[in-house]
Amino acid sequence: MKKHANCAECTLPNNERICMDPGGKTSPGCPTPRKRLVEAAKKEYKKGEVNKFARLASIQEAECYINREKKPYVMHPVKPRIQEICEFAKKMGYKKLGLVFCVGLKKEAEIANRIFKVQGFHTVSVVCKAGRMPKEELGLKENEKIFIGEFESACNPILQALIVNNEKTDFNILLGLCVGHDSLFFKYATSPSTVLAVKDRVTGHNPLAALYLYETYYMRLCKKCFDL
Ligand code: SF4
Repeated sequence: MKKHANCAECTLPNNERICMDPGGKTSPGCPTPRKRLVEAAKKEYKKGEVNKFARLASIQEAECYINREKKPYVMHPVKPRIQEICEFAKKMGYKKLGLVFCVGLKKEAEIANRIFKVQGFHTVSVVCKAGRMPKEELGLKENEKIFIGEFESACNPILQALIVNNEKTDFNILLGLCVGHDSLFFKYATSPSTVLAVKDRVTGHNPLAALYLYETYYMRLCKKCFDL
C-alpha cells in the first residue's frame, strides 16, 4: 500500500535527501519520486503569471541573504518579513495592497500600514470586525461568545475578502487573523495573499514558542511524544 507523504518524519540529513540533492535518497512515503504530481506542478509553473510569481518569489527568497558569493556559504539573512513583503510586491509591480487585520492587532496594523505607504504603496485596510455582524447570526449561543451576555461582533473574513476584492487590491497581507478566519479569507479573496503575522494570543503572536517549549512548559500538548 502506498504510504502517505511524510516529510515531517524524514530522518535523512538535508544533504542526503533526494529533494535537496540530485543523488540523494528517499524515505518512506517520499513524495519526490511521484512523477505524475511532480510533472503536474512543473506544468503549472510554466503558466505566464504563475511563472512570474514563482520566479520572483524565489529571487526575493535569495535576496533575503547577503554575501551569497562566498564559498562555503554560511547563511546570513538580513531582511525582516515586512521588508520581504514590500520588496516582493515591488518586484511584482503591485501598487495597491490590502491590509487585512485583527482588531487585537490594530496598533501593529497602523504601523504596517504606515510602512507600506512610506514604501510607495496605496493601501486598503479592513479590520476583522467590519460589518458589525452579531455572533448570533452565525448561530452562536450566548455561552459560546467571549463576552457572555454582551453584544459581540463576529470576525468577518468573508466581508474582508469582498471589500479588498471590490477595491481590486493587487496583493493582500494578513495580520493576526484567527485560525479558520484566515482560511475563509484565503477561500474568498481573489488576489494573491500573504501573511505578515499569525495570531497567537499567549505568545505575543509567536506560535513557535509553544513548539520550542514542548519539552517543558507546553509538554501537555505533546505528552505522547514522551510515551513513545
Ligand atoms: S521529499 Fe523525500 S527525501 Fe525529501 S524530506 Fe520528504 S521524504 Fe525526505
